[in-house]
Amino acid sequence: MKKINYPCPCGGRLKWKKEKIVRDEIDCGILDIEYCETCGEEYLPDESLEIVEMKLKENNLWGVERKEVQFWKSGKSIVLRLPTKITSALGINKIKKGYVYPEGKNKFVVEF
Ligand SMILES: [Zn+2]
Repeated sequence: MKKINYPCPCGGRLKWKKEKIVRDEIDCGILDIEYCETCGEEYLPDESLEIVEMKLKENNLWGVERKEVQFWKSGKSIVLRLPTKITSALGINKIKKGYVYPEGKNKFVVEF
């Protein structure tokens, strides 16, 4: 892997190191990361990001397959029932509030 030291947006210099990466409680192993000596911000290079994606996929936390959902009318509102596979993979059964916004013409995003 080619290692280039890009500057950090804070103006600091980025250094490489190997570190144990944990994302969504999934141990992704020891990966190459870049970190800023000045602000402490860490960046995952593409190669490491791919490994993280793969690990999360293995654990059903990334790119859970598309599921069909139905829009239920409830008065003027629409109720959307989310498939259990998605809710349990995301752990959103514990979450009470989120934000929704359109993204493009046929898509919307829910953030929580
Ligand atoms: Zn920085």
